[in-house]
Amino acid sequence: MVGELDVLSEWIPEQMQPGTIFVLENAGRVGERDDPFWAVLSCPECGTLGLVTRKQIAGLLPVICGSQWCSAQFFIHDSLVVARKSS
Ligand SMILES: [Zn+2]
Repeated sequence: MVGELDVLSEWIPEQMQPGTIFVLENAGRVGERDDPFWAVLSCPECGTLGLVTRKQIAGLLPVICGSQWCSAQFFIHDSLVVARKSS
């Protein structure tokens, strides 16, 4: 798994390699009010794109890959990806 996130400042789908994050232009204005969507993240393990929320960006909630073939679970700490320990 990629250990560090790449931040894209412009939405260029071809550059969404695994571990790339793009902050939404309307970050904080879509989704649930207390935990709105914040960015698009390409799974560091498999590259599947998924939305992440503000709490996930803040490292409060784990990110769980949406792909049914991938079991990646991790926390985002600043720009680092920290695998969630399964216990
Ligand atoms: Zn994945």
